[in-house]
Amino acid sequence: MTKVTNLIVGCGLTGMVLAERLASIRQEDVLIIDRRDHIGGNIYDYKDKNNEITVHQYGPHVFHTNNRQVWEYLSRFTEWHRFMYRVKAVIDGIEVNIPFNLDSLHKVFPKQMAEKLESKLIEKFGFNKKVPILELRQSKDPDLEFLAEYVYQKVFLGYTVKQWGVKPEDLDPSVSGRIPVYISRDDRYFQDKYQGIPAEGYTAMADKIISHPLIKVRLKTDFREIREQIDCERLFFTGAIDEYFDYELGRLPYRSLDIVFKTYDKEYLQSGPQLNFPENYDYTRSVEYKYYLDEHSSRTILSYEYPCPYEEGKNERYYPIPEEKNQKLFDAYREKATRLKNVYFAGRLGDYKYYNMDQTVERALNLFEEVK
Ligand SMILES: Cc1cc2nc3c(=O)[nH]c(=O)nc-3n(C[C@H](O)[C@H](O)[C@H](O)COP(=O)(O)OP(=O)(O)OC[C@H]3O[C@@H](n4cnc5c(N)ncnc54)[C@H](O)[C@@H]3O)c2cc1C
Repeated sequence: MTKVTNLIVGCGLTGMVLAERLASIRQEDVLIIDRRDHIGGNIYDYKDKNNEITVHQYGPHVFHTNNRQVWEYLSRFTEWHRFMYRVKAVIDGIEVNIPFNLDSLHKVFPKQMAEKLESKLIEKFGFNKKVPILELRQSKDPDLEFLAEYVYQKVFLGYTVKQWGVKPEDLDPSVSGRIPVYISRDDRYFQDKYQGIPAEGYTAMADKIISHPLIKVRLKTDFREIREQIDCERLFFTGAIDEYFDYELGRLPYRSLDIVFKTYDKEYLQSGPQLNFPENYDYTRSVEYKYYLDEHSSRTILSYEYPCPYEEGKNERYYPIPEEKNQKLFDAYREKATRLKNVYFAGRLGDYKYYNMDQTVERALNLFEEVK
């Protein structure tokens, strides 16, 4: 029997931040286990040795936050490569900015029409505003209604149907209605105050977070196989909560991605890091990795994301599916969890919640404070 003060299941961002806090602040020993053969969870990246390009194994990750505490916390472990994300969608064969903004208007509509729509938008809502298309629809102006319908059909519908595997008629209009038209020429995907990519990559940052003499990491180790062999005072579980309880109440569904990587004998293939394909192809987006850290190589590496359902042992749990019945099932597991002593669930899988990286860090920092 191995004895530890803190056992953390999952060496993703949640587990690593918790470990760092427990070791640095409380001076307690921590054992992190992960069934994968690498640290970092889904933020793991690696340098493709043949081409000197940093590739994100689980899809592209761009850090962005308005939370200064989180930004300063991570900045202890990395320098940042300044990076403002710019995403384009291919609509009728033309690349337009996402979120759909005033420049997008001018790209897809004839000049006079675009100018008319632009003045109407500015007059009604003001400049530099994000207006959800549901609100545009309600404006009763036929031109703005037309614009709302256009953005819904061309930008949102095809992408969402592919991403979530739903039929268009099953889409909740209140969700689709939230996508904005951005009355601005700001072509950044995020407007957050702090944005960037770890200058040496996410894995290097992860390595620094957990390099503390009181933290030990065991990879290729599944909790299900060692749970009887470890005696711990506290258990932090950042894996899937339903799996922890052996699916006693049923399985929480997830969407997954089949991410296909391709190397091309060409310096660049795309005009920028990410292209979305709402209308064409079975993949939702293609991503060209050399853009993220501005790396130079005579070749280039892209990934293509094909959304699919999560199947145990076949692919990864990527996106919790935000539906009422799933939330109810999660709540039932959560209720069971509250009856356990010194066992804490957190993270994307433990909380069954889509967290961006900054929310993940915030959740881990808060959980540490609670436990403290
Ligand atoms: C495709 C994609 C793109 C994303 N892009 C962005 C982005 O651009 N910006 C952003 O802010 N966020 C992004 N995110 C979100 C980001 O990945 C998460 O916020 C973050 O990685 C969550 O960390 P975590 O520790 O909660 O989970 P994870 O990273 O999933 O870590 C959980 C770990 O637990 C391990 N584990 C699970 N069960 C067991 C078990 N039984 N035994 C042992 N180990 C186990 C897993 O192997 C895994 O390594 C993206 C997510 C996805 C899926």
